[in-house]
Amino acid sequence: MNDASQVYDAVVIGGGPAGLTAAIALAATGARCALLARRVPYADNRTTALLGASTDLLERLDVWPRCRDKAAALRVMRLVDDTGRLIRAPEVRFSSEEIGLDQFGYNIDNRTLMAALEERAAELLGLTRFDDEAAAVDPQDAMVAIHTRAGGSLSARLVIGADGRQSLSREAAGIDVKRRDLHQSALTFNIAHSRSHKNISTEFHTPQGPCVFVPLPGNRCSVVWVLAPKEAERLMALSNDELSDAAEKQSHSILGAVRVEPERHVFPLAIESPGQFCRNRIALVGESAHVLPPIGAQGLNMGLRDAADIADIAGNAMSLGEDPGSPQVLARYQSARRSDVTSRMFAIDIANRSLLSDFLPMQSLRAAGLHLIGSIGPLRRLAMREGLAPSWRRA
Ligand SMILES: Cc1cc2nc3c(=O)[nH]c(=O)nc-3n(C[C@H](O)[C@H](O)[C@H](O)COP(=O)(O)OP(=O)(O)OC[C@H]3O[C@@H](n4cnc5c(N)ncnc54)[C@H](O)[C@@H]3O)c2cc1C
Repeated sequence: MNDASQVYDAVVIGGGPAGLTAAIALAATGARCALLARRVPYADNRTTALLGASTDLLERLDVWPRCRDKAAALRVMRLVDDTGRLIRAPEVRFSSEEIGLDQFGYNIDNRTLMAALEERAAELLGLTRFDDEAAAVDPQDAMVAIHTRAGGSLSARLVIGADGRQSLSREAAGIDVKRRDLHQSALTFNIAHSRSHKNISTEFHTPQGPCVFVPLPGNRCSVVWVLAPKEAERLMALSNDELSDAAEKQSHSILGAVRVEPERHVFPLAIESPGQFCRNRIALVGESAHVLPPIGAQGLNMGLRDAADIADIAGNAMSLGEDPGSPQVLARYQSARRSDVTSRMFAIDIANRSLLSDFLPMQSLRAAGLHLIGSIGPLRRLAMREGLAPSWRRA
């Protein structure tokens, strides 16, 4: 590949779910777009609770019809204080019916979602795929030059950095990132169980972090179990029977007998926030722009909103004859993403800290907060709507 002669409107670097969505959304605006991403099998067994407008976006991009029948609707979310502490929060139950929705969203395994995104991306004539990786990204006055591992080069007026946590694009843009290790790990695995989950997602709050059982189609759930790193490693090493017993005990047998399915993964947790979301013709989407612990299923939902916003903003700019990588256009992206991302990162950080805290007043505050949300209807409905998407945002 040597494509330096033609300057793309946009090149997306990184083909995870956020990058593929950004590439599809940009190509759908009519932009001349390239995706620089290795075609490799998706590496782990994570699932994503796609909330609120995320499935609307995937529907508009003609991705959702390809995978919706493999997703499970999420109708009720229960938060259960399982800390065993003196001061415990009451159980909080959020029901989608209460805010006039059939469901909050759908849980889908990432491999199925990725297959649907890849299939759609391959159909788009305005999207050129390079099965390669960026080795160097060099922002210049009128465009960004990209050199690839295989020795090719290409250039674009706008680069979308969707290259995850160790983002080369972010570094090339000169954007610093603040990183805080949470000293927690998430163990992920899927289970089959004897009782129906009734489309209820249940999150047990333990002193080491939340353990959530999220419905999958049939009598199956995905489990995200946040623990101290040593404990996560211990559970990772258990036999299938032992882990099945541990999961059944942690679920308080609400799903009946539990059998773990093959494949487990451990993710060390951190919070990462860059100083800005774009600079020097490079806009960040997905985990290059925000990393947070898996509480409230916010990470990829925010990543999809990043993708939708950059495509809208760059697409509108081009329809007015503007340069999509200009500082004015990037400033619009910065302002579109700032409140959504910073407010959610703050809220999730506080929720996580308050759960881990041994400080009695903090535990009381957390219990009181959850009590208020659980017992005051308008507050509960506000929390549900805000959990799905920011209130100031259109669908
Ligand atoms: C345990 C767990 C559970 C979660 N559950 C949820 C949930 O329920 N709901 C939710 O919304 N979010 C959830 N998340 C968050 C979600 O998984 C992430 O936000 C999402 O996977 C990030 O996608 P991404 O495309 O930004 O990054 P990635 O999936 O990391 O993709 C980045 C891609 O860029 C590629 N890349 C890197 N460098 C280069 C380069 N130089 N050139 C080309 N390509 C490159 C990588 O190979 C990779 O394919 C969870 C996270 C965890 C850890």
